[in-house]
Amino acid sequence: MSFLQGIAASSGIAIAKAYRLVEPDLSFEKKTVNDTAEEIARFQLALSTSKGELEVIRDNANVQLGADKAAIFDAHLLVLSDPELISPIEDKIRSEQVNAEVALKETSDMFVTMFEQMDNEYMQERAADIRDVTKRVLAHLLNVKIVNPSMISEEAVIIAEDLTPSDTAQLNREFVKGFTTDIGGRTSHSAIMARSMEIPAVVGTKFSTRDIENGDIVIVDGIKGLVHINPTPEVIAEYENEARKYEEQKAEWAKLVNEKTVSADGHHVELAANIGTPKDLEGVVNNGGEAVGLYRTEFLYMGRDNLPTEEEQFESYKAVLEGMKGKPVVVRTLDIGGDKELPYLDLPKEMNPFLGFRAIRLCLEEQDMFRTQLRALLRASSYGNLKIMFPMIATLDEFRDAKAILLEEKEKLVSEGVKISDEIEIGIMVEIPSTAVMAEQFAKEVDFFSIGTNDLIQYTMAADRMNERVAYLYQPYNPAILRLVKMVIDASHKEGKWTGMCGEMAGDETAIPLLLGLGLDEFSMSATSILKARSLISKLNRTEMEALASQALQMNTAEEVVQAVKTATMA
Ligand code: PEP
Ligand code: MG
Repeated sequence: MSFLQGIAASSGIAIAKAYRLVEPDLSFEKKTVNDTAEEIARFQLALSTSKGELEVIRDNANVQLGADKAAIFDAHLLVLSDPELISPIEDKIRSEQVNAEVALKETSDMFVTMFEQMDNEYMQERAADIRDVTKRVLAHLLNVKIVNPSMISEEAVIIAEDLTPSDTAQLNREFVKGFTTDIGGRTSHSAIMARSMEIPAVVGTKFSTRDIENGDIVIVDGIKGLVHINPTPEVIAEYENEARKYEEQKAEWAKLVNEKTVSADGHHVELAANIGTPKDLEGVVNNGGEAVGLYRTEFLYMGRDNLPTEEEQFESYKAVLEGMKGKPVVVRTLDIGGDKELPYLDLPKEMNPFLGFRAIRLCLEEQDMFRTQLRALLRASSYGNLKIMFPMIATLDEFRDAKAILLEEKEKLVSEGVKISDEIEIGIMVEIPSTAVMAEQFAKEVDFFSIGTNDLIQYTMAADRMNERVAYLYQPYNPAILRLVKMVIDASHKEGKWTGMCGEMAGDETAIPLLLGLGLDEFSMSATSILKARSLISKLNRTEMEALASQALQMNTAEEVVQAVKTATMA
């Protein structure tokens, strides 16, 4: 038995067999073949096996993810039956006497390059389809296993180098009991999604894919950040016991589901949830969320091969607003970039994607895309209590430009006779230090702030949130971060506005006493953290936490702050 230490990314305990989700090695050598008929038959077999497999994946996707996602696999099946692609491959085997791998790769590369160069979105999508399908057929020719998370049909712990947010979205909660990755930090988006899906996860273990084989028994301890490989029966029994205790604790917190969030001395704060799709609403309601503090709309744009239409977006936003029955819903406009990619936008690769052309920067340039989203949001506004928030605002001009576009679209819709709420608040995420420093100026123009500490900490500490080697610099309790948070809260209150926090820090047990003391109005977190946070706040005295926070602001290190919180909350 051995174990790996990683970063506890999503609480809970999972015990199951390992399922490796690792990119296969598809390298091959060029060979001369004498029996070309036999080589063509080998190619045909790989084709038909791929077709059978894609049909199963399509049917699974249809049930689990809906017809629109399943349509991607229909497109792949069409490619596999297209004589314009298949005949040239067979001709090449025949005329050049090369192995099927070479004929397939060279022919498909030619089509991919040709389609990619066309100034036509449809043809560019076909290039992506050909690339995907080629990978699958090549894997069958080489006899290597190609993995697909939606195909998992027995209880498993996923082992991966990294999981993209769209991989994570495809995981079937019924069978996927937990996951562990080599890279990533607590605020990488796969970790955030694991928490909202209540899948125990440990990330940043460095060696999961090196040390764990398919079928190994694995324990994911998402509380301590440990991964046990082939544990002894005693360790399994111990963990089964831990898992039971964890469930009991959850049952205790569940009693607070219909309560307000009030500190021991009677101060009310709002506990809101972060969501990625309308499906997450169930978790918000079950966990007693008082609002949606962050709807990450980019997930609507991911795991597909074209932009969502205004109508599709309108339906999603309306569903969330109606589902919350008049409670506040803060919708963040598209925040693509960093670790959230949209392959179909075909943006050039960047050296520093987290510092690059992302979020509001992209939206202010790709205005058609931005305006479509804003129209969908405005149209949905009459179905609930909508607040709109712009991500990654670095300057007042960016905010003013984004707001002006929003108001232009509003005016157009009003003149078309569309009913739009008059009470939509317009706010910004504070994720960039320049904006925190200039909070007083911003507070005069925005309706609210929501502090995005996942990015604010990575930019303040200059430490990539995806890189586990610098994870020690993710320091929410560092006085530098606390001072920035205070500046934002104070600036908003001076102008009669409110401040929320939707980064992971808002749900962090050690940070909550400090944030309560600093005067934070709204705490937005994974739905699954809400009840625990409510229980904690009900035991804290806000006046005492104010004193704790002012001391913390004067301290030298994060460690000193943690110690002070421990002392103050134990008393
Ligand atoms: C943040 O940066 O804190 C945030 C909430 O946004 P995201 O995690 O989606 O970047
Ligand atoms: Mg962010």
